Amino acid sequence: MKKRVDLHNHTTKCNHANGTIDEYIQKAIEKKIDIYGFSEHAPMNFDTKYRLKFEEMIIYENEIKNLRDKYKNQIDIRLGYEVDYLPNFLDDRVLLSDVDYLIGSVHFIDKWGFDNPEFIGIYKDKDIDNIWLEYFNCVTNMVKSGKFDIVGHLDLIKVFKFMPKKSIPSIVKNTLKAIKKSNMVIEINTAGFRKPINEIYPSKELLIMAYEMNIDITFGSDAHEINQVGFEYERALKMAKDIGYNRVVAFKNRDKELYQL
Ligand SMILES: [Zn+2]
Ligand SMILES: [Zn+2]
Repeated sequence: MKKRVDLHNHTTKCNHANGTIDEYIQKAIEKKIDIYGFSEHAPMNFDTKYRLKFEEMIIYENEIKNLRDKYKNQIDIRLGYEVDYLPNFLDDRVLLSDVDYLIGSVHFIDKWGFDNPEFIGIYKDKDIDNIWLEYFNCVTNMVKSGKFDIVGHLDLIKVFKFMPKKSIPSIVKNTLKAIKKSNMVIEINTAGFRKPINEIYPSKELLIMAYEMNIDITFGSDAHEINQVGFEYERALKMAKDIGYNRVVAFKNRDKELYQL
């Protein structure tokens, strides 16, 4: 069965997105998305301003579950979290929550929010190759933790277009091996088209490597606004198909479901 899947979407509850959950769903229906997932930034006792609070988890989860029932004849709604992989800040309330899937994302190297324009100055003080190596080391540790289903925006470190001197495949190879071994899925995330890099996550070069290693994919528009729902899906789909992908993964109760692209 062919399905259009979009599992990475935010809501107003993270304090840096606009639009009600209802509006996101209506837009997803309009865009003919079959399986639409919310993956709000999970609570964490760090960078607390731009994410849910622990006490809001139940409100978020119930709201999505109610709307899932309300719209069940029009669209298949899924519930997830985008979880920051930051050692010492992982919390079982999130990791063991009753959701369909968890996206594991690295937005911090140590405690440096490297994708936040506020802290862009730090790039100047560090060796760019080391930054890339450290970032992918964090992603590998996230994968090896075994606590997540989807690798969020695999090569987010390219966001500001500060590229390494070392070859990127040589930096990412071990991470991809870990992903394969863990049975995790990579998301094709179109948010990169809205950033200085102006490119999909992951790059075509890395997605080809993933394909050759038989790593499965899913899709995410990483919407923080209503009009970003389904953003640039056609380009993402074309890239995946050109490479050879013919199936897409969704999750229900932390189990994989496979659909045709
Ligand atoms: Zn966000
Ligand atoms: Zn993210």
